[in-house]
Amino acid sequence: MKQALLLVFGTLVLASCQHKVKNKNSADQETTVQDSVQEPTKPEETERYEPVPPKVTLDTNKVPSDAIVLFDGSNLDNWISSRDSTAAKWHLNDDGSMTVADKTGDIQTKQNFGSLQLHLEWRSPAVIQGENQSRGNSGVFLNNRYEVQVLDNNDNPTYVNGQVASIYKQHIPLAMASVPSGEWNTYDIIYHAPYFNSTGDKIKSGTLTVIHNGVLVQDHVEIKGTTEYIGWPKNPAHGKGPLKLQDHQDNSRVSYRNIWVREL
Ligand code: MG
Repeated sequence: MKQALLLVFGTLVLASCQHKVKNKNSADQETTVQDSVQEPTKPEETERYEPVPPKVTLDTNKVPSDAIVLFDGSNLDNWISSRDSTAAKWHLNDDGSMTVADKTGDIQTKQNFGSLQLHLEWRSPAVIQGENQSRGNSGVFLNNRYEVQVLDNNDNPTYVNGQVASIYKQHIPLAMASVPSGEWNTYDIIYHAPYFNSTGDKIKSGTLTVIHNGVLVQDHVEIKGTTEYIGWPKNPAHGKGPLKLQDHQDNSRVSYRNIWVREL
């Protein structure tokens, strides 16, 4: 009898907890709320009028009104050298772009970000120089550690998990969608940061979605850890971090323009 009562009590507590969790999730992200187990009989019963999504407009450069503009071609004020936190030393060009200055090192944003939507445009040099990983190599590092590869892959084969739009040495892109060398590519990236518990263990992996020139090339893939040149991915706990652009140290003069993010 005592055991039966304990079982009933435990079931009630569990049901209560599940109800609370369900309600929290519903408030956060559900669009269809099942208030009743009864099947609705009128359309109004499944229509919701709030929260009203905020209105976002686009400017003439198609930058969303709620975006944080990190580079619009006018200056490098939002960026610093990753080496020593001094002013970014990349070339600021007259056409509204910036170009890696040879061996000056990576640059990164002053501001830290977690999950985000990122738009940027990049261009590998029209004059072909180098081959394999030494031709137009740069990279976009989310959270200062997860690289989406930038590479001139036109008639330039390399290992496919390190080719353009790969998640470096983790995920081969679904397609190779580059425009000809010397023309502008677009990357639209959705990054969801991983979660770590209080003791530093990863409890949920981060994810990346990449659209290259309008083509889906990474479809919500799991980030396995840091994108290492040598070795397996590592998973030290971290919070928000800067967005970093790579100087590959081999005179790969990649250019960037029109960089903005929306925090998620
Ligand atoms: Mg790279």
